[in-house]
Amino acid sequence: MNSTTKPGHVGHPSHAAQQNFPTLNGCLHIGGIPLTRLAQRVGKTPFYAYDRSLLIDRVKYLRHILPDDISLHYSVKANPMPALVQCMANLVDGFDVASGGELKVALDTTMKPVDISFAGPGKTLAELTQAVAAGVIVSVESEREVNTLVGIGDALGMAPRVLVRVNPDFEMKTSGMKMGGGAKPFGIDAESVPQLLRRLGGLGVDFQGMQIFSGSQSLNPAAIMEAQSRTFELAFRLAQYASAPVRSLNIGGGFGIPYFPGDQPLDVAQIGNHLAQWMPRVHAALPASEIVVELGRYLVGEAGIYVTRVIDRKVSRGQVFLVVDGGLNHHLAASGNFGQVIRKNYPVAVASASSNAAREVVSVVGPLCTPLDILAAQTELPAADVGDLIVVFQSGAYGLTASPTAFLGHPAPGEVLL
Ligand SMILES: *Cc1c(COP(=O)(O)O)cnc(C)c1O
Repeated sequence: MNSTTKPGHVGHPSHAAQQNFPTLNGCLHIGGIPLTRLAQRVGKTPFYAYDRSLLIDRVKYLRHILPDDISLHYSVKANPMPALVQCMANLVDGFDVASGGELKVALDTTMKPVDISFAGPGKTLAELTQAVAAGVIVSVESEREVNTLVGIGDALGMAPRVLVRVNPDFEMKTSGMKMGGGAKPFGIDAESVPQLLRRLGGLGVDFQGMQIFSGSQSLNPAAIMEAQSRTFELAFRLAQYASAPVRSLNIGGGFGIPYFPGDQPLDVAQIGNHLAQWMPRVHAALPASEIVVELGRYLVGEAGIYVTRVIDRKVSRGQVFLVVDGGLNHHLAASGNFGQVIRKNYPVAVASASSNAAREVVSVVGPLCTPLDILAAQTELPAADVGDLIVVFQSGAYGLTASPTAFLGHPAPGEVLL
């Protein structure tokens, strides 16, 4: 095993969102295809499009940066499109799912069940039964789940594979979403874990290890590194109470992507070096354990775009509005209504602006009859008109399936992987 970050340089694949999607002959391209032609191929707008070569590049880059002895898992909830999840099955070492529906998508791929783990609060008896029968690992989030799993194991004559999800006694500072620390519905409080670990030994479950997830969407390497250090320290402390060796330690992820003006891409090289420094101690303390980093948006977010068409161009009291055929109903996050405190614009572009088009300040709004349906407020774009395509970048994660598609009854968007 080699626990140092490899020398050499692979260019960071995406300093700016637009860089991933070149403009050739006046038209933005994805997967080598002009967007105007892709829209005809899809047969409708709006649609999401994901570029598999960007997924491949991103995983390659990250593997180059992270120590060799770190396993990389994909968090399916970021984008559960079946074709994309199969593509990821060929690239990463495991999947993390968070519902029976995601479990089904994951099991339909070539990923082996032992490399799939199922986390999330409130897993039902039906979901837990499916998971045990499938042979996937269940991240237990409560005593009730443990007891239910024991019953399922007896009924099926199988030892459920169990990972204990720990609600840590710290949180990842400056993360966009705090998912650990304090009172949380996720995981079992760190201070209750020793007692549970002792109990697990006598329950006939197949103890795999622990998952400690402290936050999400951080662009601050120092905060991520500090959380990783505290995660290792907590894991070493808790492992002493386990009646079987820890075979898997999932240290979470939290790697963010730049969405807004002024956001800098995360410097993952620093994080890779920091992990490399930790690995000898980790192997000494947990010699039987693989170490897992689980990531969603960092792997897929920058590989996807949301494509809409301008239906109307209006001027209201001096302000230009481009009304496009989809908005928060398909892309809640870009509208600013998925966890943003102060609304900011995702990067947007006109797909086929003529190079000599005048630029103007416009607001791009969706077709829903609510003032919340904004894709870009007061942003400068090349002049666009009815029929033109408007693209929202950074849309590969938490897009379609994180949006209220039934709201106002418009048709669902298309979705393609190129
Ligand atoms: C949502 C979630 C992730 C993925 O978060 P990203 O910000 O997309 O990387 C990872 N692990 C757990 C436990 C999650 O709930």
